[in-house]
Amino acid sequence: MLRLLVEGALDLLWPCTCLCCGEPTPRPGFCPPCTSLISPRDGPRCTRCDAALPTAGPAHECGRCLARKPRFSRGFGIFDYAGPIGDAIRAGKYQRRPDGLPAVARALRAALPAELRADPPGAVLPVPLHLRRVLARRVDPPLELAAAVAAELGVPLAARVLVRTRDTPAQAGLSEVARRENVRGAFAVRRPPPADVLLVDDVATTGATLDAVARVVARAGAERVRVLSAAAVNRT
Ligand SMILES: [Zn+2]
Ligand SMILES: [Zn+2]
Repeated sequence: MLRLLVEGALDLLWPCTCLCCGEPTPRPGFCPPCTSLISPRDGPRCTRCDAALPTAGPAHECGRCLARKPRFSRGFGIFDYAGPIGDAIRAGKYQRRPDGLPAVARALRAALPAELRADPPGAVLPVPLHLRRVLARRVDPPLELAAAVAAELGVPLAARVLVRTRDTPAQAGLSEVARRENVRGAFAVRRPPPADVLLVDDVATTGATLDAVARVVARAGAERVRVLSAAAVNRT
């Protein structure tokens, strides 16, 4: 009772504001009009990594996947790293405002591809952040999103299989080659991974991080590795 009164008073003093437009909102995250702007990516995409393709046509892999096969068999990028979803993820990453994460998780659960629902993985693994980074941000977006995906698919969350052994600089602003170099050797397994895994991250740009983690779990014995990012950066 006391807690409810305190929370009610706090709500009056500091009402939630929409992470996207800044208007007051009844619950943390997005206001109803901004929520209505959220929709999964559409248009032609690579059949392997899910990158946007410039033109429609028969299903095929992108040039990047053809030139250098990712270690994962299938990637899913659910939303564009833009609009309300992009705002919420950036707020969590750079402004210490993790209150949008539950809204992203809700949208992600609703938008999981039929392909995954029909053929779910044995377990969902978050791409691990370095402990120092989790402590600094007080939030672990890949873990929270992976938990939402696991709950939605009804499969176990295996949060303690992987560890980030190096606190790598942020990937933003690096070239593709530099990104791969940046995350090389940054991940390790602490225990044998399940045979069929889905790796989950908050944002993917070139997929270098997801591919590096996929290599580590495959080397440790995972037989099928798929990857999912809540948001995908459109690249050319
Ligand atoms: Zn709004
Ligand atoms: Zn591709």
